[in-house]
Amino acid sequence: MEENKVKKFDAIIIGAGPAGALCAVALARNGKKVLLLDKGGAFADNLCAHFVRQTYDCSLHEPCCRRHSCLSGLGGAALHFEANFDNYPYADAEQKERIADFKFSPFLEAALGDATEAYIMKFYDYMFAAGLQKPAAEPAVCGKGCVGAAPSGTIPVRLEDIKKIAAKLERDLAQYGVCLLGSRTVTDIDKNGDFVVSCVQKTGEETEKFYAKTVAVATGYRSIPTVAKFIRKFGLQHSFPAETELGFRVETSAEIADKLLGGACNPRIKSACGKHRTFCICSGGRIMKYPFAWGSDDFVLDGQHAYSCRGNKTNFSLLSKVKVPAGENSYEFAAEFVHEANTLEKGAVPAQKLADYLSGSKSAQADIDGLSLTLSGCVAADLRPLAEKYGIAIEWFIELVKSVIPHPDYFYNNTVLLAPSAVKYAPRLELKKAESSCPGLYFIGDAGGVVSGISAAGATGLMAADSIIEKYL
Ligand SMILES: Cc1cc2nc3c(=O)[nH]c(=O)nc-3n(C[C@H](O)[C@H](O)[C@H](O)COP(=O)(O)OP(=O)(O)OC[C@H]3O[C@@H](n4cnc5c(N)ncnc54)[C@H](O)[C@@H]3O)c2cc1C
Repeated sequence: MEENKVKKFDAIIIGAGPAGALCAVALARNGKKVLLLDKGGAFADNLCAHFVRQTYDCSLHEPCCRRHSCLSGLGGAALHFEANFDNYPYADAEQKERIADFKFSPFLEAALGDATEAYIMKFYDYMFAAGLQKPAAEPAVCGKGCVGAAPSGTIPVRLEDIKKIAAKLERDLAQYGVCLLGSRTVTDIDKNGDFVVSCVQKTGEETEKFYAKTVAVATGYRSIPTVAKFIRKFGLQHSFPAETELGFRVETSAEIADKLLGGACNPRIKSACGKHRTFCICSGGRIMKYPFAWGSDDFVLDGQHAYSCRGNKTNFSLLSKVKVPAGENSYEFAAEFVHEANTLEKGAVPAQKLADYLSGSKSAQADIDGLSLTLSGCVAADLRPLAEKYGIAIEWFIELVKSVIPHPDYFYNNTVLLAPSAVKYAPRLELKKAESSCPGLYFIGDAGGVVSGISAAGATGLMAADSIIEKYL
């Protein structure tokens, strides 16, 4: 190994999404020597080109992000298109009035404990300092008719704000002297006194090695195989959830969704029994297809929000909690569901009009094409057998629709179910202030399998930075 390839740091952060980037800034601001590695590139290179074009030229109908490069690099999966920032618990910009009924999710509280609100607000302080528009005096709460709905403290974030946040991150990383290396895929971590992090450049074959007293893994949700490797190698304490959440993505007209939302943005809507819910429901956007895990051929569906360019569609997931069968873990089980959905129509995205799902018949391809979905290449399929096999139920949602929309046939005929959507299947690491059972090895953001979402990722990154400074540096 050449001498100039050997570099020693106080902390190495793997992954430059909201968790990793904020952790790196917080450490470097305190004078620590930090290396931030990411397999992707700079923010500007990864900004979702299709989204930008769609935003500034609404006549373009090419919304499918084929390369998925926008899920990687500085900003991670979060900061390359418009987004919802959740967990803002205040009803006013001055942070005086708490939103009535607001509760952080139990997962976020498990991760951050008594300091949940303090770290969430640290995250927001950073975002407001970057130029994020503070929320309106009275944030929208769910409209009438929603079953078990609660406010999620959502702030809709437009592309202009996303760009300001990315610019501040880039500025701070440079100003505080973080060594940011893009196009570096971390392949391994060893511990030999210090941690040794090995990575490869996309273009080259040679392995680079970097050394540090502490490492924070911030590689996001799609990195489960990488995280699993570190779990095995360091014998990390973890568990798999006994239930996972599986379901469908739904695309419908923004006009009908407005009736459901009653002016709210992303309320937490649950069935009365608590087993089923909507995931990320707001008034605009498009569907996006991306890999189930980095390196996997299987795809899952998620949605981008759109506020600058609202369009005429919206999308969200309908998810059901499903018990993992004995002898399997949640990741394997979710992978089976995803693979079955992927192979239903030979690798195409299977789609079914809600009206046909309800009557138990496969949609006509002409009907699917006629609805001009935001995702191209969807193929008519019958999703009901898949739903029945895996215990996915949407009847509760139909009841909700009926209570809000007087003549729901129009809704049934203009709404499409697409597969697959899956969440909460990752291994959950046992973490104390983001530190794993291997001293000095931290897992932050989605990679730890405990929290998900942008604000939660940022908050855990900030908490890890404090813990690293307190315990090791
Ligand atoms: C389409 C889509 C829309 C979303 N919309 C929202 C939303 O509106 N609101 C919200 O709160 N959440 C949203 N989410 C979820 C949100 O993006 C994530 O919860 C959040 O980005 C997690 O942050 P993170 O830092 O943990 O990981 P990520 O943002 O996933 O970042 C992980 C980083 O690690 C890098 N990486 C992975 N493996 C390696 C490796 N081996 N070596 C080096 N680098 C590696 C990746 O390139 C990536 O940059 C959305 C997700 C998707 C996919």
